[in-house]
Amino acid sequence: MRIPKWKIKGVTDDFTECGCCGRRGLKRTVALMPLDADENEDGTAEDVAYYGTSCAATALGWTQSKVTDTARAAQAKREQRDAYARMMISLYAPVEFAPVREKARLFYGRNRSLRDTGVKATEEVAKLLANARATLADTTTGPARPSRIEDFRRYLVIFSSDQQIHRVLHVPDDEGKRQEQATAAARRAKEIRGSVLVVAALDGEAARDVAYSHRLAPEWIEKAWQDAHV
Ligand SMILES: [Zn+2]
Repeated sequence: MRIPKWKIKGVTDDFTECGCCGRRGLKRTVALMPLDADENEDGTAEDVAYYGTSCAATALGWTQSKVTDTARAAQAKREQRDAYARMMISLYAPVEFAPVREKARLFYGRNRSLRDTGVKATEEVAKLLANARATLADTTTGPARPSRIEDFRRYLVIFSSDQQIHRVLHVPDDEGKRQEQATAAARRAKEIRGSVLVVAALDGEAARDVAYSHRLAPEWIEKAWQDAHV
């Protein structure tokens, strides 16, 4: 008899039925990826099984608390990877179809140590974008997350006088509120002798990185936003 081997991939409240015993109405389930004889992951998101904590514990021969802790840690890691993916897309999707020179300027500007090492910016940017899109499209512990330029939102970033980010604010859709925010931000920037920049990104965290890299590709970042939202 083959002993089933699994790797805990995370925890989700999107699946509430145990795939082992069929119990329904669970608060959450543990996502389990089957492993092959060599303990390599044997499948894609479609092959993942969702077990209640007690069935997962039995399947793994672990205590329930070890299952819970491992699942939480795995989920936290997924969320970190998602955040990184949103950052990569927010940074590089706008220059995806820009001339090589523009792409290189942004990529090497952010990765100075890779300049003149034979690492090609075009290939790296394509790889980073492909990985980031795959990460956000992964449905192991829930539906795919927004990943297109069309999903970008506007963020207002206030820089301090030493070019550090002082504040990141989501720009409201309402024109009146937007004006109000811009006026208040300009006033604040003046008080701290800083500056204001509006950028587009998938979330506020990614907006910080886009703001720091903005000078490396300002026209392309703006153009991508315009193309996607006109
Ligand atoms: Zn069960």
